[in-house]
Amino acid sequence: MKAAVLRKIGERLSIEEMPTPRPGPGDALLRVRACGIDGTDLKLLDGFGYVPELPFVMGHEIAGEVVECGADVTEFAPGDRVVVYNFVTCGSCLYCRRFRDQLCLDMRGIVGVLDLPGGYADYVCLPAQQLIRLPDGLSFEDGATCCDAGMTALRAVDRADVSIGDRVLVIGVGGVGSVVTQILAASGVEVIAVDTDVAKESWARTQGAASFLPLAADELVAEALRRSAGLGVDRVIDVVGLEDTMRAGFAALRRGGRMVIVGYTPEALPLAGKELAQNEKEVLGARAGRRDDLRRCLALFRAGKLRSIVRATYPLQQVNEALETLRGGVIGRIVLTFD
Ligand SMILES: [Zn+2]
Repeated sequence: MKAAVLRKIGERLSIEEMPTPRPGPGDALLRVRACGIDGTDLKLLDGFGYVPELPFVMGHEIAGEVVECGADVTEFAPGDRVVVYNFVTCGSCLYCRRFRDQLCLDMRGIVGVLDLPGGYADYVCLPAQQLIRLPDGLSFEDGATCCDAGMTALRAVDRADVSIGDRVLVIGVGGVGSVVTQILAASGVEVIAVDTDVAKESWARTQGAASFLPLAADELVAEALRRSAGLGVDRVIDVVGLEDTMRAGFAALRRGGRMVIVGYTPEALPLAGKELAQNEKEVLGARAGRRDDLRRCLALFRAGKLRSIVRATYPLQQVNEALETLRGGVIGRIVLTFD
């Protein structure tokens, strides 16, 4: 099979011929049909965040077709259309027991991110327990985007705990920010979308944003206050996680407001204890999504409540061009597709 291999941090992926993996008793072999690419892949290339052992095959938004199952696999069979939940969890630790899979203390790996090879390849072999059926009528491309962008958006919105009529700043209108905006708009929330790239304004509006602000930290705070009668916004969902965005988001919050940080960078948010305490502001993190968030995301797509965010597809052979395009800034999601 062909695979795009990360051999050295900072270098282009090399397209190589590799042996097709063989499934063990509890595994399934998938023929990859679509694999999303996103900011986590750029972080892996840059050596920030997760650091897999090299050489490594990235790709963590996988949709495909089961072609072979190990002897112990009873739930799936060749021909099944599936997507992959990336966090290979222990199933028994404190967090697994409390329905917070993605915080598992004894993670066996994250498909396409850490320890387990991903979907930048014609085939991927993984524990069958990671598979979730792709509903009929939902494309491999859209199914793939649910595996990170979609489920992460659901989780971030859950953490934000919005109410109908809330005014929410969504900072960063990439894949996650687009789905966040769609969900919030459908929930009766006024979304003010924020991005450095002003070309994203019309896209943000098609996702349901009521308005759009270019990202310039000082102006952002002033404008958020102006639009909320000086009170500040009810919620902020920061999908970027730069010091500037977190600082502006925090300053734009009303008293008792909540900011959810879902994007991250090497930068930190210096917090004034007095500002936090005296205004009872809340700052929460959100990490990817739980298995159930992925299931719910697929169901929302299937029901037509969420719309496709895929705007471009590339073949595996052009994965480096796709990654460079992403780094330069794209609207919507880029997905690798396989014939
Ligand atoms: Zn666990």
